[in-house]
Amino acid sequence: MNGTEITDLKKILASPKKVVIIPHKNPDGDAIGSTLGLYHYLKEYKHDVCVITPNDYPEFLKWMPGENAIIKFDTQTDRAKQCIANAELIFTLDFNSFSRVDDMGPFLEKSNATFVMIDHHQQPDNYAKFMYSDTSMSSTCEMVYHFINFFDDNNKITADIANCLYAGIMTDTGSFRFPSTTSTTHRVIADLIDKGAKNANIHQEVFDTQSLSRLHLLGCALKNLVMLKEYHTVYITLTKEELQSFNYKKGDTEGFVNYGLSLKGIKFAAIFIENQSDDYIKISFRSKGDFSVNEFARAHYDGGGHNNAAGGRSDDNMEDTTKKFVTILDQYKALLQS
Ligand code: 5GP
Ligand code: MN
Repeated sequence: MNGTEITDLKKILASPKKVVIIPHKNPDGDAIGSTLGLYHYLKEYKHDVCVITPNDYPEFLKWMPGENAIIKFDTQTDRAKQCIANAELIFTLDFNSFSRVDDMGPFLEKSNATFVMIDHHQQPDNYAKFMYSDTSMSSTCEMVYHFINFFDDNNKITADIANCLYAGIMTDTGSFRFPSTTSTTHRVIADLIDKGAKNANIHQEVFDTQSLSRLHLLGCALKNLVMLKEYHTVYITLTKEELQSFNYKKGDTEGFVNYGLSLKGIKFAAIFIENQSDDYIKISFRSKGDFSVNEFARAHYDGGGHNNAAGGRSDDNMEDTTKKFVTILDQYKALLQS
């Protein structure tokens, strides 16, 4: 966002507004952390703020301050639709295309509200009057921190905001180890700790609250891992039956795909997970170095994301999906071997 845009947005926010904040479907730590961080900040200015998620999110994010105020579009549809219809300002966080909010998309398209995008994914759509889009950013939470500072409001960052933003930066950077983690990211984190982020507690809430069945499901996933050495690639599969037998809950498979990348020489990892209710396979891709999984997911799996982390879907069954994956990989052999 440039100086003029900041001034213009500041003018709009100078008096209390009806605001809606929305993250992408199946929200992760960055999506929930950024929406709640911004929620607490805007509440300080007496705006009337609703956070609406397209659907539910994992238990390990439900400790965040303000979480109990979140409206879920899929189960609280009437209330959510009313908030969207009344909104003067809609912030969309951690996504950049209405296709990422499923059934909410048509209601956003119909809205007369002014849209503000804060996002770090590639190739943003053009629906927002105010666009803060930066693919070099570690996380949307880091961007919300900068956004608050654009308004010279560093002193408005409360412990609640700090805890929410810390959580999203931590999860989106793989606990500060992915290449998107910069010295600025660390300075932001340092400031958030100074402002009251309980870093060790947050780590425990997110990573040390697992169920035994989730660890057993991880065991199953690792057993199913297939290594394709010539392509420097691994993939994992999880069927509906396997998920059910380990008492699958939302968020249980979070992070599984990264185990593939911990193998020596592996540059590309995928996980194929059968969806519980609908008949499709949800795919996560991760890579190391310059193999762009965003481009790979866009080209073959109706998906997208970042260079090193992206997602997509397949409407074939598991067997056909993995067969096709190996065939597609062959087109990328030279790139993966370089
Ligand atoms: P995950 O694999 O953790 O679901 O997602 C990895 C990254 O890719 C996230 O930044 C997420 O927002 C993005 N992503 C996941 N699935 C999709 C998808 O189907 N379409 C697009 N455009 N992005 C996705
Ligand atoms: Mn993110």
